[in-house]
Amino acid sequence: MLFRLVFFSVSYGITLTPRYRYFNLYLMRLHWKILIGLGLGILFGIFMTLISWGPQLVVDYIKPLGTIFINLLKLMAIPIILASLIHGISNLPDLSELKVLGFKTIGIFMATTFFAVLVGVLLVNIIQPGNSLNPETHENLMELYAVDAAPDEEMMARHQERGPLQFVVDIFPENIFSATTDNRRMLQVIFFAILFGAALFLIPKEKSRPLREFFSSFNDVGMKMIEFVMLVAPYGVFALMAAIVIEAPSLELFGALGLYGLTTVLGLIILIGTDTLWVRLFGGRSPGFFLKGIAPAQLVAFSASSSAATLPVTLERTKTKLKVPEHVRSFVLPIGATVNMDGTCLYQGVTAIFIAQVFGIDLSLSAQIGIILTATLASIGTAPVPGAGFITLVIVLSQAGIPEAGLALVLALERPLNMCRTAKNITGDAMTAVVVNNSLKHKESKTIT
Ligand code: ASP
Repeated sequence: MLFRLVFFSVSYGITLTPRYRYFNLYLMRLHWKILIGLGLGILFGIFMTLISWGPQLVVDYIKPLGTIFINLLKLMAIPIILASLIHGISNLPDLSELKVLGFKTIGIFMATTFFAVLVGVLLVNIIQPGNSLNPETHENLMELYAVDAAPDEEMMARHQERGPLQFVVDIFPENIFSATTDNRRMLQVIFFAILFGAALFLIPKEKSRPLREFFSSFNDVGMKMIEFVMLVAPYGVFALMAAIVIEAPSLELFGALGLYGLTTVLGLIILIGTDTLWVRLFGGRSPGFFLKGIAPAQLVAFSASSSAATLPVTLERTKTKLKVPEHVRSFVLPIGATVNMDGTCLYQGVTAIFIAQVFGIDLSLSAQIGIILTATLASIGTAPVPGAGFITLVIVLSQAGIPEAGLALVLALERPLNMCRTAKNITGDAMTAVVVNNSLKHKESKTIT
C-alpha cells in the first residue's frame, strides 16, 4: 500500500514537470485520453479473440459498458436540443437573424453534401475498385451475406407506401410529448423548439423572463451533465472498440474489399481536408485549432457510429473549444446531426458504383447523375443512427437499377465504414457552425484562436 502510494506520488510528481507532463493522465487533453482508450480497446479486443473464452467475456462484461456510455449520450440529446435551441433562439439579437441563419445553414448543408457525392463518384470512377475484385471472392461474399444483406421487406413496403412529401410531413409533430420520447423524431423536437423559442422572443420581456431564465439554467445544467459523461468517454470508447473487434468479420474479407474500403476512406479524408479549408477560408479559424477542438467528438462518433448520440459532445466542443455562440451552435448542430450526412452521401455514391462495377453494369453519365441526385436525397433522409446509411442505400441502388443483392458484397465492411462516415458527418456539422458564425460576425465569436 505504502509502496503504491509512494510510486504514485513520485510518478505524478515527475509528470508535473514540463518535460513529462504529456504522460500525466490528469493533465492530458481529452482527445488523447479517448484515443488511448480507442487504441487499447482494439488491442484488448484482438488479444481476447486469441483466447477461447475471450469473445464471450467481452460480450458479457465489456460490451455493456459501451452500451451504457452510448445510452448516457443519447439520454442527453433531446433535453439538450430543447434547452439550447429555445435558449439560443429566444436570445437572438434580432429575429430576422433566424431567417439568415436558416438559409445559410441549409445552403451549406446542401452544397457540401452535393460536393461530397461528387468527390465519391469521381474517386470510384478513377480507382475502379469493383474491377479488381476477383470472381472467387465475389461468389464467396454473395454466399456468405446473401441472407443478412437482403433488404427488410417490411421496411421496403413502408418506404414504398410513403408519398413524395411524407418526409416533410414527418417534421411536424402532432404531439410534442410523444415526439420527445423517441430519439428518431429529433427533427420534430427541433421544429417545436424553434417555434417555441421564436414565440418566447416575441412576447413582452417581463412575461418571457421566467421561461428564459428557466431554459438558461436548464441549458447550463445539460452542458454540465455532458461534461460528466465525457469523463467516462475514454472507458466507454475502450469498451465499444473491444466489442467491435470481437464482432468483426475475418481479416481476409477486409483484405478482399480493401480497395473499395480505401476508396471510401480516401474520399472521407479528402472531405475532412476540405472542411478544414472552408474553416480557414470562411470560418476565420486555423485547421489545427478546428481539428483539435472537434477531435473528441470525432472519436466518439467513430466509436458510436451515431451522429445523434454524438450530438451532446459536438455541442459541448463547439461551445468550449470552438467558441461558437449559443444561438448558432444550438441551431446548426441538431439540424446538422439529423440531415447533414455528407460522409454517408459519399459512401452511398461510392458503394452503388462499386456494386455496379462488380456486376459488370456499365453506368451511363445520366445514370451516374441519377446516383448523385438520389444519394443526396437519401443521405438527407438517413437517420443519425448506426447503419442507417446502409438501409437508405437501397433507394439509390433501386433507382439506378443496380441489383440489391449486391449489398451482400459490401456488408462485411459496413461497420468500419459506418464509423468513418459518422466521424465525417459530425465534422461537417461543426464546420458549418464555425462558418455560419463567422459570416454573422457576432461580437461573441471574436475570441482569439
Ligand atoms: N451512422 C451515420 C450517422 O449517424 C448514418 C449512416 O449510417 O450513414 O451519421
